Order: sequence, then C-alpha cells, then structure tokens
Amino acid sequence: MFGALLLMTMKVYKFGGASVKDATAVKNVHQIVAREKGRLVVVISAMGSCTNLLETLVRAYHDQNDKKWAILKDFKDYHMAIIEGLFGEKGMPQGVYELFNELEHKIKTRPSYDYNFEYDQIIGYGELVSTRIVSDYLNAVGHANLWIDIRESLKTNDTYRDAKVDWEWSDELIKENFNFSDTNLYITQGFMGSTTTNQTTTLGREGSDFTAAIIGSILEVESVSIWKDVPGIMSADPKKMKDTVQISELSYKEAVEMTHSGAKVIHPKTMQPLHNKGIPLLVKSFVSPDDPGTVIHKIDHKIELPPIFILKENQVLITLSAKDFSIISINDIDRVVNFLISKLIKVTLLQLSAIDLNIVTDATALDLEEVFGELSEHYQIRYNTGLTLVTIRHYTEDVLDWMVKEKDIYLEQHSRLTARMLIKE
Ligand code: ASP
Ligand code: MG
Repeated sequence: MFGALLLMTMKVYKFGGASVKDATAVKNVHQIVAREKGRLVVVISAMGSCTNLLETLVRAYHDQNDKKWAILKDFKDYHMAIIEGLFGEKGMPQGVYELFNELEHKIKTRPSYDYNFEYDQIIGYGELVSTRIVSDYLNAVGHANLWIDIRESLKTNDTYRDAKVDWEWSDELIKENFNFSDTNLYITQGFMGSTTTNQTTTLGREGSDFTAAIIGSILEVESVSIWKDVPGIMSADPKKMKDTVQISELSYKEAVEMTHSGAKVIHPKTMQPLHNKGIPLLVKSFVSPDDPGTVIHKIDHKIELPPIFILKENQVLITLSAKDFSIISINDIDRVVNFLISKLIKVTLLQLSAIDLNIVTDATALDLEEVFGELSEHYQIRYNTGLTLVTIRHYTEDVLDWMVKEKDIYLEQHSRLTARMLIKE
C-alpha cells in the first residue's frame, strides 16, 4: 500500500474553451481524464467563447444598458443546452443554479466606476459555471472528484484584469487545499484569483494556461498538459500557411519566444514557473489523445528546428521624427517609451534610424487620436494601420528571399535566429 502511494504520479491537465464547448466535448474530457490513473488537478476555462459573451455583459452592465438581460439569458441558455445534453432535462446541478442567481443578482446592482474591478467580478462566472458542470457530470458518471474554488488558493494583488500572483501566499494555500487527502481528482477554474480582501481578480485573457503552470509548479507535478484542438505546436498556423509541420519538442526559451511573438497556442506566461522547476509542458490534442503532441522541456543539446512562422495581426506602425529635423536620441526613446508605458500600450517592436523612431504596437485596443494628440507636441507623425508582424524563427535565406518577393515589407529586423517583417495584411 505504502509502495503504491509512493509510485502515484501527480499531474495537471488544462482544458480550454474549445474542449468543453458542448456536451459531446465535455464527454470527451471525461474520456481523457479517465485514462489518468494517478493524482490529477484539472484546470478548465469558460465553455466555448463564453468569456467574449461575458465581456459584452460587463460592457452593458457598466453602461447600465438593458441589453444586459438578453446577454444573461444567452449565457444561461448556452449552458442549459449543455446541461441537458449531459444530465437530461431534469438534471440542473444545484451549484450552477446558484451561480446563475449570483450573477443575476450582481447585474441588478449599480456598477461602481471602476470598470476593471467590475469586469473581474463578472467575467469569471464563465469558469465557475463551466467547472461546476464538468465536476458534477464526472461525479454523476462515477468519476469522483472535488470542485475547488481557485480564489481560495490563488492569491493576487489588486490590479484587476491583469493581477499579479502572490507566490508566497499561493504556495501555502495551494499546497494546503490540493492535498489529495480525500480524492485523486480536483477540478478548478483557470484565469481567476482573489485579493487579500477576497475580491475576485483575473490574470489576463487566456490566463488559464498560466493557472495550470502556477498550480503545477507549486505542487511540483510530473507534467502539465494543455489539451487543444490542434495536434501540438506547428511550424505555422495551418489555417494561414500551407506545408506546416508539427514540432515534437521545444525548449522553454523557444516556446517563450514563439508565444511572445504572437503564437496563440499557449499563454506566454506559462513557461516561466515550469522552467524554474524543470516541469515538462505537454501540448496535446483532445481529438487524438494518443498522439504525442509537443513537449516543452529542458533541452541541453542542439536540436534542428524548421523555420517557424508566427503572425501578429492588426499592428500599427507609428513613425515619429523630430519637428526640427534633429537626430533621434536616447532621450526621445526614453520619453516615448515612458509615455507608452503610462498608457499601458505594449510595444511589439522598436526601431530607429537617424531621424525616425519607428514603433510597432497592437492596434486592437488603441485610441490613436489620444496617442497622437500627446506625441504631436514633440514629433511629426506618420503611421500605417492594418499591418501584420511576421516573425520567422530559425529563418533561412530561401525563406527570406521568398518573403521579400511575395510581400510589401514596411519594416524589417534581423537577429541571429529571428527575422521580423512588417507586412500589409
Ligand atoms: N476564459 C478565459 C479567456 O477566454 C481564460 C482562458 O480561456 O484562458 O480569456
Ligand atoms: Mg478561453
């Protein structure tokens, strides 16, 4: 008995929205979880694209717009259809019913002025409802598990929508709450945490991968697996390029570079905690769980990688030049970068020539007029929108030649391993 206990593995699985988007998908999650014989923590996101739907709810609630009721109804109906597919007509889990009520009660109240705070109080209902459904379903089909409210274990500061993890405190609580004393399977939410005063926070969109890595690194598990609708990490997005190949292994560093450049397979923050503890990260297909997928781990030897293409769309190129034709100096960079930081604008790429300072940034949440208003005090501004930043890791001369022939290039930057090109979409 004691021997068996020692041999028992401990792992973390993470399932994203696509893997729980309908009743069939949830049944598939059960199949995958059932294959695991050891101890397991399952981290789950909101079902389908519920987080996007809840973002519209937050907006309507904050604007005190009556559309909020219709959105709430959509949110409930979507889950009710899944519940029916899993439990039949009379099977409404009590926990889900309570969460619906809580959310309804919340949107009846008057919102505070703090949009980011209100966002976090609402957005996590996607995760709460989804984990309740999966946990109850697994219990109903005989796969005993415990549902854990991650907010009691994952503590953060109060930067709403982009909360920073309190590692020391979370370490203590996660070890205490995920202790496997009376179960081998915990089901919990990704993306969410809470402050010292127990207000709900979130780690940023797509943050569930990071949650899996936080729990995995604190519990020092054998591996963390992220289950996706793709076979693993590919050399490019197969929807956008042909001749893509699957990559069987990557170093943590390579994976950080790729995801930071815009590869959406995993959240860029996921690697650091796992790297620090040397825990492998597996990216696997929930459609064909027997396939090996991609493993991200410590690699000491040199491995041959094909050119890897990563696209970051909807970028804007802003070119600043001094009004009096003076040379761009370090003080200009300092001023511009500090201004962008103060506006929480993340720079994708920076390049300077004698008289131009080129900044590439994500246009998605950018108020160009506001940015230009302030910068035009000091600089002449030119800009182009609708651009895509193509990052090519491990580029070859052939690949670059081909790119240059095919595309209109607005800006180029090369380092030993990486070429970046800004092209028209
Ligand atoms: N549901 C959240 C989102 O869509 C978190 C996640 O999926 O990782 O952003
Ligand atoms: Mg999601």
